[in-house]
Amino acid sequence: MTGAGTRFDLLVRGGLVVDGTGRPARPADVGVSGGRLTVLPPGSSSGPGSGSSPGSAADAAEVLDARGRVVSPGFVDVHTHSDGVALLGPAGDGDRPGNGSGDGSGRELVRASVLQGVTTEICGNCGSSLFPALQERLAAMRAETRITFGGDVGAYADFAGFAAAHAGVPRANHLASLVGHGTLRAGVLGPVDRPARPAELRAMCALLDASLTQGAAGLSTGLIYTPGSYAGTAEVVALAEVAARHGKPYVTHLRDEMSRVEEALEEAVEISRRSGAALHVSHHKTAGRYAWGRTERTLPRLAELRAGGMDVTCDVYPYTAGSTALAAMLPPWANDGGLRALTARLGDPAQRDRMRRAIAEGVPGWENTVGNGGWDRISVACAPRHPRAEGATIADLAAAAGADPLDVAADLLVAEDGEVTIISHSMIEEDVRRVLAAPYAMIGSDGVPKPGGRPHPRWAGTFPRVLGRYVRELGLFGLEEAVHKMTGMAAARFGLTGRGVIRDGAHADLVVFDPAAVADRATFTEPLLPPTGVDAVVVGGAVVVRDGEETGARPGRVLAL
Ligand SMILES: [Zn+2]
Repeated sequence: MTGAGTRFDLLVRGGLVVDGTGRPARPADVGVSGGRLTVLPPGSSSGPGSGSSPGSAADAAEVLDARGRVVSPGFVDVHTHSDGVALLGPAGDGDRPGNGSGDGSGRELVRASVLQGVTTEICGNCGSSLFPALQERLAAMRAETRITFGGDVGAYADFAGFAAAHAGVPRANHLASLVGHGTLRAGVLGPVDRPARPAELRAMCALLDASLTQGAAGLSTGLIYTPGSYAGTAEVVALAEVAARHGKPYVTHLRDEMSRVEEALEEAVEISRRSGAALHVSHHKTAGRYAWGRTERTLPRLAELRAGGMDVTCDVYPYTAGSTALAAMLPPWANDGGLRALTARLGDPAQRDRMRRAIAEGVPGWENTVGNGGWDRISVACAPRHPRAEGATIADLAAAAGADPLDVAADLLVAEDGEVTIISHSMIEEDVRRVLAAPYAMIGSDGVPKPGGRPHPRWAGTFPRVLGRYVRELGLFGLEEAVHKMTGMAAARFGLTGRGVIRDGAHADLVVFDPAAVADRATFTEPLLPPTGVDAVVVGGAVVVRDGEETGARPGRVLAL
């Protein structure tokens, strides 16, 4: 249909533009040519007889009718664990029937993000990325990532290797990646519980430096997770200094998000101050009964730091439940040596008793989710060999079996080679709302797309849930602010130049949604149900979703930042 003299590849006509900066919505048409945007006066392209006007439909190869709809920049999901899901492929070895909606296949998992309007995912969070590692450790890393990511996704020497692997798999949206500190540590030391030696720390810094030079987005830590948790503050400072030299952020899953969340936040502040790196707090929460309400202290602290000139931001997902690995419910020493060492320990009744006592009594410096909440708040999300356990709490499974919950969890871990995903119902709504409303909080799904089971619905529902539930239904903040949190604010934090805004010359990543209808449908029982009201998604100028359905276009790529 592209005729001679066609001015635009695509014209999004008649919509209300919310441009991602936080400025008020305004009617405008948006033209796309060569993957870049041109903002046109409203009506310049509408109506009969407008063939000679600058944005005429006659001048466009393709037109999206956005009347009654909002046109916004494509959403940036700043916090994902989608590092390997595209590499699993449509018939990845993880393809098994899911218990919820759809088949839970790699293809369905990949689709869920783009159907909610995400045009850029940032993976490599919580200290876990698929790179980098020393050559001699790559084979061992591959075995661990196979377990962690639910299939053969590989481990890569550096960001360039990761990008090359993804380049072979066409994708609908863009992907950027942080460098995970836990991966760095495993890639140099292995999964061991000891401080890094000076030469090892130098090697970690060199690997980080190389990947940041190649385009990785920053440094992430997950200081509750092994092996990241084996590191002291000084080790993280040394690595954050490397990020600071690149002008890239230090992104952290705090060492404790429960009863000691305030101390953990101060450690992050210290790391940022000593290293000079900007600080981004991942999925900020104050979870567990002892920390409920504590956002009334952490958020004023963050506001105070910002007022004092510190560059600190956070992200949040709009749910009162989190999701992580069942193994993370056990004390750090239980995971020393990696998953195989863990399953060996779990086979020893004496070691199990030690773990039971550690959970009951606590271990200094360890978050202890179960001690802060209870096994009745932990439900099984993914346990491929035990589909009937999926959806049940550990407490329920224990009651049904007449067994102790720790033994039920331990038996499950052993039978699943250490890899079981759980959902932790650990937060209260008031805290979630306070964080969402913080003016420096952006939106990140924290989605963990793995084949099968019942993953947390946030991977399919986060962005529509904020727009539907928190903006339209509850009026927690305005539409322009919500879109800013999902786009411009996120792009600025992670150096996504020319993205997250609608203005002349910006990259043509767009979402067209119905502000009166947009809503999440994904639930804990049907976790991959696509949202309503997300009509169209444009990536790099190509329409990847039209009328809520994928078009099959695959313009996405790995972004080097
Ligand atoms: Zn995390």
